[in-house]
Amino acid sequence: MASNAQAVRIIATGFAALIVLMIALVIFGLVRLNEVYKTVNEIVTVEHVAIKSLYIMQGASRERAMLVHKIAQTEDPFDREELIQRFYDQASVFVQARQDMQALRRSEEEKSLLEKLYAGTSTTAPLLQQVVNLVQNGQLAEARRLLSEKALPAQTRVIQSVTQMLEYELSKSTKMADTARQKQQQGGWFMIASGAGVIVLSGLIALFVIRRLSDLVQNLVHTSGDLRIALRDLQFEKQALDEHSIVSITDADGNITYVNQKFIDASGYTREELLGQNHRLLKSDHHPPSFFEDLWETISSGHVWHGQICNRARNGTRYWVETTIVPFLDDAGLPYQYVSIRTEITPMKEAERMLQQSKEQLETMVQERTNELARTNSELQSEIDRRKQLEENLRSLAITDTLTGIHNRRKFDEALGSEMSRAGRYDTPLSLVMFDIDHFKQINDTRGHLVGDRILAALAAFVAEMIRSHDVFARYGGEEFVILAPNTDMNGCRKLAEKLRAAIERHAFTGIQHVTCSFGLADHKRGDTAAGFLRRADVALYRAKKNGRNRVEEE
Ligand code: GH3
Ligand code: MG
Ligand code: MG
Repeated sequence: MASNAQAVRIIATGFAALIVLMIALVIFGLVRLNEVYKTVNEIVTVEHVAIKSLYIMQGASRERAMLVHKIAQTEDPFDREELIQRFYDQASVFVQARQDMQALRRSEEEKSLLEKLYAGTSTTAPLLQQVVNLVQNGQLAEARRLLSEKALPAQTRVIQSVTQMLEYELSKSTKMADTARQKQQQGGWFMIASGAGVIVLSGLIALFVIRRLSDLVQNLVHTSGDLRIALRDLQFEKQALDEHSIVSITDADGNITYVNQKFIDASGYTREELLGQNHRLLKSDHHPPSFFEDLWETISSGHVWHGQICNRARNGTRYWVETTIVPFLDDAGLPYQYVSIRTEITPMKEAERMLQQSKEQLETMVQERTNELARTNSELQSEIDRRKQLEENLRSLAITDTLTGIHNRRKFDEALGSEMSRAGRYDTPLSLVMFDIDHFKQINDTRGHLVGDRILAALAAFVAEMIRSHDVFARYGGEEFVILAPNTDMNGCRKLAEKLRAAIERHAFTGIQHVTCSFGLADHKRGDTAAGFLRRADVALYRAKKNGRNRVEEE
């Protein structure tokens, strides 16, 4: 089936063709009529005059021939004069008719025929005149002879010429009349054919229009049926919506134009109180102004808005609604009304609030418990730290000499064991320095034990500063010290002992200016025992004392 636009195009084209056809018909008819009119006019104005003139000429010629004959025959002079007068009159008639004829617009053929006639009359007329003259002069015999021999034959030729011309004109006008009739007939046929064309075309257009209209009517019937069904469905849907939801419609400015029963029930207002009111009537102070600004911006720009709104009922109580607002747009795309569909969610919001409350309480409890635990934890940690410190202190005390702060003999014995086994395993050098303050008894005796103690402590601090961090420095007993030097052979050990000896000798200690020490050295030998290793150093120290003190001996 053609679309509506196509149908309109077809109908318009049909009508245009019809109009063109009718205009052509009228123009053709007018042209044909004009032609017929022109032909008829020609026949009436020209041919009629020509034929009439020729008839006159023919009549006049015959009359003159007859008159001149009578003139030549009559004996009575009175009759003759009258006949002569009539003879001249007929000459005038002839000339007048010929002039009329010449005045007409003629074809070449007619012109030549006219010339021929003119030539004929111009020779015949003097002959006839001559006959008349001879009669008037009384020469009757001569006149009759001229008449019968020359004048009458000439006049007969003139009459023949006129008759010939008359026949020509008659046949011509007959032809013209035939042509006019033919044209009229053709025009008639054409008009009939065109009229029939117009009728057929109009019929076709009408048929098309009728078919089109019947299609449209059928469509309309179908559509109205569909619309009825759609309308019925819509009514059911609306009923379902009204049963389930709170529904309202507002105009473009938010003024309420429709509310359903659920809306009335939820808000507590009557329908009359609501209609015409702005929807702001239900606004609670729960939401900030920006909430409604966002909402309005969304729907006024043609978008659907979803969200939860807290409204205020007529009695001041609040109720929550899950809301969808749909803008209805006009042809220009601008909202002309808003349809709002809401579901009451107050119980859900209440449950949500309570849930939130208990969640917050729980969170507070958890936080408090966590803080408590953290506190306990930190107390426990500090207790552990304190104990560790205590242990560390105890351990440190166990291996530290209290007077000097350096390692005690116990620590030294431990270190000696592990360093000796390492030196044995990796075959690395290990040396031992043992030194003892010279004549310390005298210091104690002269300055007192306290001064002796201070010197012991000061000497230990002084030596600790001069040795390597890997060296193990310990108070071995009384005023006797040991240095265990890992990775150090006898040569290195000798340099260390000599350096210490010289430095101690030079150093000024508080309370007693100078002390000296004697040094006994031993290097570790494969298969050494700790006791053997120590004894060799002790033997060397004894020798240093014996050999004058403030010196270094090795074993
Ligand atoms: P030398 O070694 O040169 O042979 O002579 P000495 O006087 O130093 O002799 P010895 O080494 O035998 O004497 C050690 C003295 O050191 C004995 C004691 O009075 C003193 N002494 C030992 N331990 C301490 C101590 O802890 N404090 C003090 N003030 N004196 C001590
Ligand atoms: Mg001593
Ligand atoms: Mg001693």
